[in-house]
Amino acid sequence: MIVVAALLGAFTWTFLEYVIHRWAGHYKAFRKNPFGVEHIRHHIEGDYFAPSYKKLLIAVFVSALLMWPAAAIVGRALGVAYVVGLMGFYGVYEMIHRLDHTHPGIGPYGRWSRRHHFYHHFVDARMNHGVTSPIWDFVFGTYRKPGVIKVPAKLCMEWLKDPSTGDIRAEHAQTFVLLGKGR
Ligand SMILES: [Zn+2]
Ligand SMILES: [Zn+2]
Repeated sequence: MIVVAALLGAFTWTFLEYVIHRWAGHYKAFRKNPFGVEHIRHHIEGDYFAPSYKKLLIAVFVSALLMWPAAAIVGRALGVAYVVGLMGFYGVYEMIHRLDHTHPGIGPYGRWSRRHHFYHHFVDARMNHGVTSPIWDFVFGTYRKPGVIKVPAKLCMEWLKDPSTGDIRAEHAQTFVLLGKGR
């Protein structure tokens, strides 16, 4: 049961990841909130991430806030497992998102998560809000299968760029192209 509670917590995070990103990050009416401001800066600058200490403070605060009702509803052990699952998977999300931007990624999941996320960054920011999974994009009808992604030269990630030519590395040339090469 402990494992089920933790998995449910992780699953809850996938939903929050979608909701926070789509509505707090991109919905015009709410976009002025602190997360929205940080998120738009992340889109504009590409390599900007909100400071980790802010994320950590919020994570601790939210964990403390959730712990009490979770324990009251399902008992202390299951409540703690649920919150740990949720916040643990939030940590996984932070890692995956950061790695999407900074490293080329390993295996089918690594390739998938990059293409899914950079479609959101560079093709259509109204689509592909999920980062760790496409589940809620499917549910809410915002899933798009990325074709070839056109990356603006000034926002091109280091792992994608061949330093000797300034163009897209050969191994990614099927799936990414450079826009407006400023060489
Ligand atoms: Zn991003
Ligand atoms: Zn976004």
